[in-house]
Amino acid sequence: MRQSIKDLYDEMSYQNEVWGENRTQQLELWLTILTEEIGEIAKEILEKNDVQNLYHECIQVAAVAIHMAEDIERRSKAGGFNDFKNQ
Ligand SMILES: [Mg+2]
Repeated sequence: MRQSIKDLYDEMSYQNEVWGENRTQQLELWLTILTEEIGEIAKEILEKNDVQNLYHECIQVAAVAIHMAEDIERRSKAGGFNDFKNQ
């Protein structure tokens, strides 16, 4: 397995420990979390502090995005987005 995928899996497991598994959140909250994490990537790039931190921020963004996608998939299967355009 590629190291980045292993790191992604480890980060997803860590986030599950901290925030709980199979969590459901409003899309606006997911967007806030994802945007905050992307902001941390921007900070690392602009401040040029530590490339390992930049790598880990990228992994954190990927982990949040996958958790968000899984929440959307679960809720879609349960009919939670049948009226998505009007939510
Ligand atoms: Mg971060």
